[in-house]
Amino acid sequence: MISLSYWLRFCAVASLACSVLGFASTGSPFYGDAPDRHHPWAVHDQNRPQPAVVTPGTFSSAEQPGKPPSDAVVLFDGTQDSLANWLSDKKEGEPTKWVIRDGAMECVPKSGYVRTRQAIGDCQLHIEWAAPVKPQGDSQGRGNSGIFLMGILEVQVLDNYNNPTYADGFACSVYSVNPPMVNALRPPGEFQVVDIVFRRPLYREGQAVDPGYVTVFCNGVLVQDHTALEGQNGHMKRSVPGPFPDKAPLKLQDHGNPVRYRNIWYRELPPRAAEGGTDGLLSEEATMAKRREIAASIRADAAKMDAKTTAAMLRLAESLVYEQDAVTLEQVKVWQTQFVAGLTPLAPAELKAKEAEVKSVFRAFRFLVKFKIIPADFGAQEAFDNLVKIQGWEK
Ligand code: MG
Repeated sequence: MISLSYWLRFCAVASLACSVLGFASTGSPFYGDAPDRHHPWAVHDQNRPQPAVVTPGTFSSAEQPGKPPSDAVVLFDGTQDSLANWLSDKKEGEPTKWVIRDGAMECVPKSGYVRTRQAIGDCQLHIEWAAPVKPQGDSQGRGNSGIFLMGILEVQVLDNYNNPTYADGFACSVYSVNPPMVNALRPPGEFQVVDIVFRRPLYREGQAVDPGYVTVFCNGVLVQDHTALEGQNGHMKRSVPGPFPDKAPLKLQDHGNPVRYRNIWYRELPPRAAEGGTDGLLSEEATMAKRREIAASIRADAAKMDAKTTAAMLRLAESLVYEQDAVTLEQVKVWQTQFVAGLTPLAPAELKAKEAEVKSVFRAFRFLVKFKIIPADFGAQEAFDNLVKIQGWEK
């Protein structure tokens, strides 16, 4: 078994070795596997954008709602101002008749659904709801409302605490399609904390390229696990697959019960690979387009550097990893030939002084050869290999 002190020593040595060799923890060029026909980025690619910083919020308790993360769009926070984000769904532009009570937005039966002013697409949606304290009715008649994603896909809101109903109509079901995996509800009157990840179906030229998915957590318990959509859902009728709009208002259902909502916010999700996103498994066409874009950006970066420096030429060589470019290839070849020719006459001490630089250049060209970006006999590569081998620097 590896002891903690050994492991800490190993990490310290590994970290030092990485920094000496230029393998920063953020990754280095000429390091992980090169881009291919479906991945525009190399493995551990330092050109890949850093994730945006988001300040996390706080979790809700039964007594009080939590705070949304910094990049969330707040749809309702208990204030009258945020109620103005919601309109009646009965008449175009009419304010909702739903009311705020104790910081929650309460459905006024028969006033109709409410919908957001904002059109919302793929999103992470956070929403909390509470069924009336005194349970009335049973099955679908008790504490019924609904979270209608894009106004057309209902994630059920229902008081199923000691209240059985048909499984595909349970709270947190994708209504009429898929029951929740478990019933993780709190008693009526208490707020249920629901987190939804929604990806709408994607169609191209009439063909489905992605069915769309819904993932739901109820009070922190996973209840829908990336459930594939089967189209819009509804009462009694089987869903029929079909395209969704790109964005549409979120609706909350008036099913005749004074269900309360609080702490509603969403975060827009980035596009999937199938709709222009650059993470995930991309089509060959999208991959090559992105690779050309990355290469152009690296060449522009290299153009700002002092062309006489090794760093500038390595940056230029790096662009070849993403796109073959005859002019760049020739520039790199000329420079590499001159670089190696400059090493040959050096006295051992002079060469030793350049060890780190030589190693970094060697690592770059060995990478380019390994991934067949340049041929093994490129420029002065053979002489370079020999020189480095003699010095014992190839590892
Ligand atoms: Mg409902």
